Amino acid sequence: MLGCSEAAPSLAAHPTAPMATIASLSAPSPIRVVAIESQPFGENTYVVFRDGSESCLVIDPGFEPGAIITWLEETGLHPEAILVTHGHSDHIAGIGSLRTRWPEIPIVIGRGDAPKLTSPTGNLSAGFGLALVAPPADRLLDDGETFRGANLDLVVREIPGHSSGHVAFVIDAVEPPIVFGGDVLFREGIGRTDFPDGDFSALEAGIRRHLYSLPDAAIVFPGHGVPTTVGYEKSHNPFVRPGGAR
Ligand SMILES: [Zn+2]
Repeated sequence: MLGCSEAAPSLAAHPTAPMATIASLSAPSPIRVVAIESQPFGENTYVVFRDGSESCLVIDPGFEPGAIITWLEETGLHPEAILVTHGHSDHIAGIGSLRTRWPEIPIVIGRGDAPKLTSPTGNLSAGFGLALVAPPADRLLDDGETFRGANLDLVVREIPGHSSGHVAFVIDAVEPPIVFGGDVLFREGIGRTDFPDGDFSALEAGIRRHLYSLPDAAIVFPGHGVPTTVGYEKSHNPFVRPGGAR
């Protein structure tokens, strides 16, 4: 698995029938968040939109884009942009299909991870014998800037360590704030740091600086697994403690 520390499932076992699961998650009004979990990596694609809006943002489209496209078509929501937390293959595999369906929507990713979109080595698919590539980025994001789309403002926070150009997206204009964290911080876990550009110290520092500094009630929607909160992780996360000592 690219996000967690478990053994990678065999891609030969990847089923032809969709296995994606779709869940509407609780989020502070007026924000709506829907998770579409793609197999075989259990990767969460998020669709985020304002209540009553006709447009949305799609974050990290994974290996089952058909489920994402079908859901969007059935609900009538129009994607305004594809946002990518980092360039690992399980988070980018669906980009091409979404762009085929909606050719006008831009691909938006942190500057440092943009090259992984088009590099099977960089996005780790080469290691699975897949040679997966996505279309190149249309817009590159830097730490601290705000991306605006679908009437939402998302602050970009660069948190390297799992992937060198990884970004998290923070919507801080709602109470509590919400974070699309990719593979940085999981419920009682963190992203792997054993890839070639991995760095535990950088990940630890970035979590403390950019996530543990948010209000305890801030909700983190992670790239794998269930949502968590900043306060819960500050109390329970065994890998990154809020203070100095681990
Ligand atoms: Zn990853």
